[in-house]
Amino acid sequence: MKSRFLVANWKSNKTIAEADSWLESFKSPAGDHTIILCAPFTLLHFLHERNRALVLSAQDVSPFGQGSYTGEINAQQLKELVDWVIIGHSERRANFGETDDILKQKVLQAKSAGLRVIFCVSDERETVPEDADIVAYEPVSAIGSGQSEDPRASNEIIARLKERIKIPIGLYGGSVTPDNVASFIRQPAIDGVLVGGVSLDAAKFLQLIENASIS
Ligand code: PEP
Repeated sequence: MKSRFLVANWKSNKTIAEADSWLESFKSPAGDHTIILCAPFTLLHFLHERNRALVLSAQDVSPFGQGSYTGEINAQQLKELVDWVIIGHSERRANFGETDDILKQKVLQAKSAGLRVIFCVSDERETVPEDADIVAYEPVSAIGSGQSEDPRASNEIIARLKERIKIPIGLYGGSVTPDNVASFIRQPAIDGVLVGGVSLDAAKFLQLIENASIS
């Protein structure tokens, strides 16, 4: 079976104590999937020190380098703690006014610091900067709604997207659960899943990984 990317996105959730208890329950799963944990900035140092086995990702990065950008976390700072960063999540586009130009700057900053980029789109026609490493297709109506998209429809969209932007790795995201993960993982153009809500619970996320491994 092809190795897949199983990406957990904690969004703006968890204190250090909660992250610690998640780690306690999250015993290293079997299988050769790549599991990436996208945690809030405040937890990255703790997770980096506490568990070197997890592949860590940030959920955002500054469009600027070092300097007078109060409140921003730049790509060089992140590179000390993580290998990956999510850019262009629909929640950032909708709530923080992130435009294609800003997202392109973020990708440039991330890549120049040596980070790898998971770039999110909610529509196959959206612009994807050419330096992104992975594209994640996440229809907005499916995020957090419990209404995942039909896996065959997602497969067709991801296949066309990968072909258009010439990025070989495409993920599906939107209400992926232990019960439906196999139906996505089995699709030929889908190279993995991005998981929000279910990833907050270590036992459920482990179950999702297990079900992805036997599909
Ligand atoms: C997400 O965070 O990108 C996501 C897909 O969330 P959920 O799995 O909760 O729909």
